[in-house]
Amino acid sequence: ASSARDFTGADPHVVLHEVYGYDAFRGDQADIVAHVVAGGDAVVLMPTGGGKSVTYQVPALVRPGTGLVVSPLIALMHDQVDALIANGVRAAYLNSTQASGERAAVERAYLNGELDLLYVAPERLNVGQTTALLQRGRLSVIAIDEAHCVSQWGHDFRPDYLGLGDLAERFPGVPRMALTATATRETHREISERLHLPSARHFVASFDRPNIQYRIEAKVDPRRQLLSFIRAQPEGSAGIVYTLSRKSVEQTAEFLRAQGVDALPYHAGLDAGIRAANQSRFLRDDAVVMVATIAFGMGIDKPDVRFVAHIDLPKSVEGYYQETGRAGRDGDPSVAWMAYGLADVVQQRRFIDQGEGDRAFKQRMGQHLDAMLALCETVGCRRQNLLGYFGEASEPCGNCDTCLEAPETFDGLVAAQKLMSTIVRLQRERGQAFGAGHLIDILRGSSTERIRQQGHDALATYGLGADLSEQDWRSVVRQLLARRLLVARGEYGTLALSEASAGVLKGETAVPLRRDSMGRAAATRVRKA
Ligand code: ADP
Ligand code: ZN
Repeated sequence: ASSARDFTGADPHVVLHEVYGYDAFRGDQADIVAHVVAGGDAVVLMPTGGGKSVTYQVPALVRPGTGLVVSPLIALMHDQVDALIANGVRAAYLNSTQASGERAAVERAYLNGELDLLYVAPERLNVGQTTALLQRGRLSVIAIDEAHCVSQWGHDFRPDYLGLGDLAERFPGVPRMALTATATRETHREISERLHLPSARHFVASFDRPNIQYRIEAKVDPRRQLLSFIRAQPEGSAGIVYTLSRKSVEQTAEFLRAQGVDALPYHAGLDAGIRAANQSRFLRDDAVVMVATIAFGMGIDKPDVRFVAHIDLPKSVEGYYQETGRAGRDGDPSVAWMAYGLADVVQQRRFIDQGEGDRAFKQRMGQHLDAMLALCETVGCRRQNLLGYFGEASEPCGNCDTCLEAPETFDGLVAAQKLMSTIVRLQRERGQAFGAGHLIDILRGSSTERIRQQGHDALATYGLGADLSEQDWRSVVRQLLARRLLVARGEYGTLALSEASAGVLKGETAVPLRRDSMGRAAATRVRKA
């Protein structure tokens, strides 16, 4: 470790070189640093791996006083601070995990002007004592990291962030920065508003990650599909597999291990020791595949993650973008792969319907889901869709599944009508509603026990859809749900018509559907999930 030096008043380029060993600023970094060093406020939107740290750390070193970094990642503060100290930066943190003696030492160092950077959790900052302490010393800059946590509609909302709105009054004259890798216009607006940054300059980097190849395929047998995806990756590739539940994390990790993949589980319910050990193996070794819930990843700095796989549908495009963004921070080719199916759509709608929150909240969650589904079902370029969601116009990328192999489409009108009239007949004639599985059995003319019992073989649409395979039908249902031409209700995901269904029944709404090439091929190879 080099010894600490005082860089107050130094040229930012010199600091960049001497502290970090970098030759030049990247992208907007130089402009952001110059703006903040001169005392300006900034909102910085940069994708993960874009290099946000330098933009607040360099001003903190150059301006007189201590840079205050507000971060929700208490678990990582220790590592972040150690890394800075190793670079010769005088850094420390204050959080609730600290013993009182240690805390007192940090407070003393701050008051003596011996700290370049001080990390605090937002909840600390909302305690009056902390403000009083900080006011007795001198702050050079306030950086609010992961600023999207202030967004009440977002997936990372932290109520403590709302308390950060009055930092300007508490610390007048100290430039403030809000930094995030999540940047829909909505989040963007919320950050400026709630953190009271009306006159901040906005630095918006492109969210394109050209080295990441996006692939989304229909879910048939997710673990098998995942395994063949992993096996198709170059030998020694490290990756992250995201799945929604803790149980699925454990089962998937176990499955992969049994197949010879060096997979480890990670979720918030695991013992802290195991979690830390698995995380450090993932960071240290090559070729480890971390199977995790979304509890894993924020702040994880492993540049050579070669793939991120999702075997469950993320709740929003923001979440998906952030999770997939953990691949390929080193700029080398990487893959974001996902398998998603009908059950995901039904399950997520149910989570929203039966979950907490008022009507407006549910509506917003529904919109998030719709955008995610639109990305999954698009026949256009995935990247273009993704960037478009963040307000960025682009051309088809040539490096996603749909660009590399244009999806086949077909006219789904007749299929949709058959399905819808089956739903209508069951409802009108018998007052019944069913989930996709049974409806598909009816359409395909299957002779199941339930069909015989219910006498559903007498329905006019019985056997009318035998021209499509079960897998094709599941794909049709999924796409109709994704476009809200149908809705799934209740615990069993029973299907019902939506307001938009009428147009389809009358033949007025076109229903172009994509054919799941994967689903078709895989259905013959593997048994149904
Ligand atoms: P973010 O916080 O935006 O995800 P980081 O600040 O962690 O990104 O930086 C991402 C990676 O880029 C890190 O490995 C960092 O060392 C590297 N990096 C950042 N700025 C530069 C630069 N100017 N030159 C070279 N490497 C850089
Ligand atoms: Zn593309």
